[in-house]
Amino acid sequence: MKAIVLLGAPGAGKGTAAERVRVAAGYTHVSTGDMLREAVRLASPLGQEAEGYMKRGALVPDELMIRLVEGLLGAGGPDAAYLFDGFPRTIRQADLLDEAIERLGGKLARVIFLDCPREVLIQRLTGRRICRACGANFHMTNMAPKKAGVCDQCGGELYQRPDDHESTIISRLDVFNQKTEGLIARYERQGLLSRVDSSAGAERLAADVLAVLAAS
Ligand code: AMP
Repeated sequence: MKAIVLLGAPGAGKGTAAERVRVAAGYTHVSTGDMLREAVRLASPLGQEAEGYMKRGALVPDELMIRLVEGLLGAGGPDAAYLFDGFPRTIRQADLLDEAIERLGGKLARVIFLDCPREVLIQRLTGRRICRACGANFHMTNMAPKKAGVCDQCGGELYQRPDDHESTIISRLDVFNQKTEGLIARYERQGLLSRVDSSAGAERLAADVLAVLAAS
């Protein structure tokens, strides 16, 4: 089992890059944010517990996250290649991932930090719109749909994530600085970190991430 981690603040482009890399290089995209939103939509016990934290832009407690990702890692077998988007976000989660990978005889092959200035992150997050039906991402100005409010890919309705409202965005960026940024130094020490500039847009970012993966 091989794992790649995409590390970056909300709005850095982890989800968009992961989708493109999934298509181009055959990785399984694991987005804990998407898994949690699905759990909330289904009103599962875990979803009900997680919802309040997500709404206010806080991290879902590690115990719940462990329950969410447990089982997933072992399910893919020895040839599985996972691309993690939004996990780990705390030291505890990083420890858990290391333990799980070791237990499965796998390898954390690379951690890619998507570096982006704060003002670009805020501009991206406030303009982000998502298709309710297929989950495709758009942006009001950077990646506008052909018809306002309608998904180009499936015709579904576009909506704004409740945690993409400006007041919550600031909390989410602060949470990244307080809880997740420390992982950059950890992975740098382990010789696993590559940095890519994610401010140049989706195409360029996906190409840069693919280049890092090809070299590792
Ligand atoms: P994302 O779609 O990755 O921006 O995640 C949306 C929200 O889900 C975050 O603001 C957190 O509330 C929660 N979340 C996603 N992944 C994690 C994680 N690894 N640890 C804790 N909370 C998470």
